[in-house]
Amino acid sequence: MSSNQIKKLVRGIPEPTIRRMPLYLSYLKTLDLNEKTYISAPKMAKVFGFDATQITKDIGYTNVVGKTRVGFDIKELIPAIEDFLGFNKKNDAFLVGVGNLGAALTKYGGFEKTGFKILAAFDIDPTKVGTEINNTKVLHLDKFQNLAERMHVTIGIITVPDEYAQQIADKMVSWGIKAIWNFAPTPIKANEDIIVENTSIYSNLAVIIKKLK
Ligand code: NAD
Repeated sequence: MSSNQIKKLVRGIPEPTIRRMPLYLSYLKTLDLNEKTYISAPKMAKVFGFDATQITKDIGYTNVVGKTRVGFDIKELIPAIEDFLGFNKKNDAFLVGVGNLGAALTKYGGFEKTGFKILAAFDIDPTKVGTEINNTKVLHLDKFQNLAERMHVTIGIITVPDEYAQQIADKMVSWGIKAIWNFAPTPIKANEDIIVENTSIYSNLAVIIKKLK
C-alpha cells in the first residue's frame, strides 16, 4: 500500500466514506418513516449520484445489513450511522476569533445534532470579550488554557485572520488541544499526533468559477 493510500484511511476506514456518511444521514432524516421504512442502495445512489455498490460498501462499515429487494431499515440505519460518525457522543470545542465567520459558527445551532458544541469562544478584541453569542460566552484568549483543561475540551476551531492562524494553532496545541478545525486559508502545520482539518471555502468556489468558464 502506498503512503498516499495509508493517509486516506482513518482508523481503517477510507476518508471519502467518512465524508459521505453525513450526507446519507441528513438525507435519511428527511424521510417520512410513516411512508417509508426501508431504503435501497440504488434509490440512494439516484439521490446522491454515487454508485450503488459504493453506498452498500459505505453502509457496510456500520454493520447494518440490507434485506434483499427492500434495502436498509431506515430506523436501524440512522442510529447506526450516528454511532459510526460519533455524532451520538459529546464533542466539545473552543473557537478562537469571533469575527464574521467565528460569530456565525458560534451562533449556528445545527451542530448540536452532531453532538458538537462550541462551549466558549475567545478573542483579544476588548469590544468582543465579555459579550455573549446565543448564550455562548466570548472570553479573552488568556482564559483558553485553564478552561480547556478544566472542561476537558480537546477540539479547537480557528477563525482568526490568516496571519495569526499558525500562532493560534501552536498555542492551542501547547494548551492541550488534540484536534484543530482551521478556517483560515493557509493550511496550518502541526505534529502528526494532532488532527488537523483545513476547510477552505475558496476551494469550492474555485471549482464553481472554473466550471462556469
Ligand atoms: P474578522 O476580521 O471578521 O474576524 C477575525 C477575528 O479574529 C476578530 O474578532 C479579531 O479580533 C480576532 N483575532 C485576531 N487576532 C487574534 C488573536 N491573535 N487571538 C484571538 N483573536 C484574534 O475575520 P472573518 O471574516 O471572520 O474571517 C476569519 C478567518 O476565516 C480568516 O482567516 C478568513 O480568511 C477565514 N474565512 C474562512 C472561510 C472559510 O470557509 N474557510 C470563509 C470566510 C472566512
